[in-house]
Amino acid sequence: MSLVALSPDALSAFLADQRASYEALRSAGLSLDITRGKPAPEQLDLSAELLSLPGEDFRSADGVDTRNYGGLQGLPELRAIFAELLGLPVEQLLAADNASLALMHDTLSFALLHGTPDSPEPWSAGEVAFLCPSPGYDRHFALAEHLGVRLIPIDLHADGPDLAQVREHVADPAVKGIWIVPTYANPTGGVVSEAVAAELAALDTAAPDFRIYWDNAYAVHHLTDERVKTADIVGLCAASGHPNRPLVFASTSKITFAGAGVSFLGGSTENLDWYLSHVGFRTIGPDKVNQLRHARYLRDAEGVLALMERHRAILAPKFEVVLRALSDRLGPHEVATWTEPKGGYFVSLDVTDGTASRVVELAKDAGLALTPAGSSFPYKNDPDDRNIRIAPSFPSLPDLEQAMDVLTTCVLLAAAEKLADGS
Ligand code: PLP
Repeated sequence: MSLVALSPDALSAFLADQRASYEALRSAGLSLDITRGKPAPEQLDLSAELLSLPGEDFRSADGVDTRNYGGLQGLPELRAIFAELLGLPVEQLLAADNASLALMHDTLSFALLHGTPDSPEPWSAGEVAFLCPSPGYDRHFALAEHLGVRLIPIDLHADGPDLAQVREHVADPAVKGIWIVPTYANPTGGVVSEAVAAELAALDTAAPDFRIYWDNAYAVHHLTDERVKTADIVGLCAASGHPNRPLVFASTSKITFAGAGVSFLGGSTENLDWYLSHVGFRTIGPDKVNQLRHARYLRDAEGVLALMERHRAILAPKFEVVLRALSDRLGPHEVATWTEPKGGYFVSLDVTDGTASRVVELAKDAGLALTPAGSSFPYKNDPDDRNIRIAPSFPSLPDLEQAMDVLTTCVLLAAAEKLADGS
């Protein structure tokens, strides 16, 4: 029964029950963690073969000795595999080192220090702001804030950012960019629709050098039979007369090894030349041996999709545990809503307004680490104190069952406390 419909006596009894369940869990001395979207060890084991590659034959398809300096664009054979998966011509995709976050950091730093091909001056010559559809990826927001960029929260819908809010803000020339995770967003799992992508591509922005940071981290990370297709932002922007607007990011962090994969940067050739002209001062070239290893191991786009099916076999049951616990334990009481993603790494849980911090605190005391409340919002400020990100990938299934028992108990207890308190 809905918690708000309970009589005062029934609510007191419910609260007492939840307190008792919570105390029982607390005394169990648990140590559980569903904070970050890290692949589980069994997922990393899937790519163990990478560790023995490339063997004696260290030359790339075009005869380059991958052990030596050079090759700033990355190996063509690896770029070809991911160009196909990301829907880009191979000339419009570079392969780099292990973290796409580093590419986001570098491109933003280069824009601040030197400006982009479309900038009249370095971005840092004036105020710089980025639109932050929220809830979103905490590291996007932290990175931009760290580099002195002002963060502007924007509502995020199931099909992408709120376009009315976006339009209002891009009338300000200080607004230089927007963070977008187009497919299976972190943490909502939402997918940007073709229509929203087309509007973003066509936007009339006051800044001539406005950029869409299109972080396609979960492009092939499907959890169902439906292989959701990402909108072609590069094509849409080019067709709207803004070829340099999108910067596309991706990586194999959640395909092969999270800490030893390969990242990709896609976009117009002008943008890629701009990136190369600056990154050439930072490095003589990426780790081509690792790129060769990846090309040999993954073979082709089909090879990547086949590997992703093996990830899905490990991950999908974990998402089922989370969704079942939420619907069985919280559903009847109508104290929370949550997303049911078709891919990616997260479930986004909205608890009773004003209780997310309390839930996280209760969970911590009971031995369950959750991402701090507010993490998915600019400046860690969730105005409604209601969002909690659930990352089911790392724990084992039994640990996850226990973690969800603790989490749902804390959600119910915090909601009942709030109602009983009358605030
Ligand atoms: N982008 C998003 C949306 C993510 O969720 C993550 C990791 O959680 C990353 C990027 C990190 O990517 P990488 O490991 O390539 O730096």
